[in-house]
Amino acid sequence: MDFDLTQEQQMIYEYGHRLAKKYDRKYWMACAEKREFPTAMYQQVAADGFLGLMVSEKYGGSGLGMIEAALFSEGLAEAGIPMLSLIVGATMSMSPIDKFGTEEQKQRYLPDCCKGKIRFCFAITEPNAGTNTMLATTQAREQNGKFYLNGQKTFITDAEGSDFGLVVTRTTPHDKVKKKTDGFTLFIVNMNDPRITKQYIPVSVTIPEKQWQLFFDNVELGPDDALGEIGRGFDILFDSLNPERILAAGIGVGLGRYALERAVAYCNERRLFNDVPIGAYQGLQHPLAASKTEIEMASLMTRKAAWAYDKGLPSGEYANMAKYYAAEAGCRAVDNAIQCFGGNGFTKEYGIFDIYPLIRLMRTAPINREMILNYIGEHVMGLPRSY
Ligand SMILES: Cc1cc2nc3c(=O)[nH]c(=O)nc-3n(C[C@H](O)[C@H](O)[C@H](O)COP(=O)(O)OP(=O)(O)OC[C@H]3O[C@@H](n4cnc5c(N)ncnc54)[C@H](O)[C@@H]3O)c2cc1C
Repeated sequence: MDFDLTQEQQMIYEYGHRLAKKYDRKYWMACAEKREFPTAMYQQVAADGFLGLMVSEKYGGSGLGMIEAALFSEGLAEAGIPMLSLIVGATMSMSPIDKFGTEEQKQRYLPDCCKGKIRFCFAITEPNAGTNTMLATTQAREQNGKFYLNGQKTFITDAEGSDFGLVVTRTTPHDKVKKKTDGFTLFIVNMNDPRITKQYIPVSVTIPEKQWQLFFDNVELGPDDALGEIGRGFDILFDSLNPERILAAGIGVGLGRYALERAVAYCNERRLFNDVPIGAYQGLQHPLAASKTEIEMASLMTRKAAWAYDKGLPSGEYANMAKYYAAEAGCRAVDNAIQCFGGNGFTKEYGIFDIYPLIRLMRTAPINREMILNYIGEHVMGLPRSY
């Protein structure tokens, strides 16, 4: 067994800290508070060749694997500059196109995506389906060789700034399919189509990317816009779930480390009684040490999940555990860090409480912890299904 990172992997992991020298937490927070996409930072990531880490070299990517993508996600968050859009947009769209797209689709979208010239959003969640994707009703109805898209999606990150969206649709309604996962098709949709209405959803998580509700009103699509086989979209979705969970785990681990680092620096500095730094108090030190342990455990599981994925081994068990534990450990780490700062933990100047909303989001999105525990209970442990 070898836990060492290669030189290239180490460089990818450290990239966040290098990037943060130019686009630091202050820049990221300024964008987040204005709800403004961090375009300059995104373009820098593209120029440095990190946007298409998992995309084949032939289409402008780096042709690397899940481990590298996870290290990248972890490293950015650890530097205090996590990017949700890279998970829900770039990874959930570029990788499926690379894997399941036609040659023409790959040529048309991937090189420009990797260069940061175009952005993708990913749209699955619906107001009346939510966690239960099977109830999705957004429909692409076939007529005379074309498809007409109608329905709604909600909470779609960066939908307005994105040029295209990978949209999960039903091409056969759920009461007409043999197997409940049949009848789904993924479409590449031009987000500037006038038949799409976008409604901004203000959320209380301070992040640069905005969320949108989308209304599709007879958006015309060609068969060339379908990704993969008509009616077999669930296979593509299934393939994308573990990468998304691994990258989300990377954010949890990275943000946890960022918060702990800030807390340690503060605790070594501040003195209140007998000229001893507050970090000596076990009431603060032990929760930080426990959180450090938990974060490193979550990091190990994240890397194991990525390793299994890259090897083509079943990675669902590890990816779900990594996502679950990274969010839980991350929430505890940030909470313990806030405690160390006393009143300063709640000020804008120190910016510690600002870490909390995003790490808390990781318990709910892109998949909530209850569904993850359902997966582990049912599929890993063999317990009966409750819902
Ligand atoms: C900031 C943000 C960004 C997002 N970005 C995107 C995006 O880009 N694209 C996209 O498609 N979606 C996006 N989402 C949506 C997100 O993935 C969903 O909100 C999340 O998956 C939960 O779905 P829901 O909100 O419909 O909750 P519901 O399905 O209504 O579930 C509510 C709660 O019920 C519990 N629950 C549900 N089912 C079960 C069960 N079987 N067993 C036990 N408990 C259960 C869970 O605790 C869950 O949190 C985003 C959401 C947010 C807040």
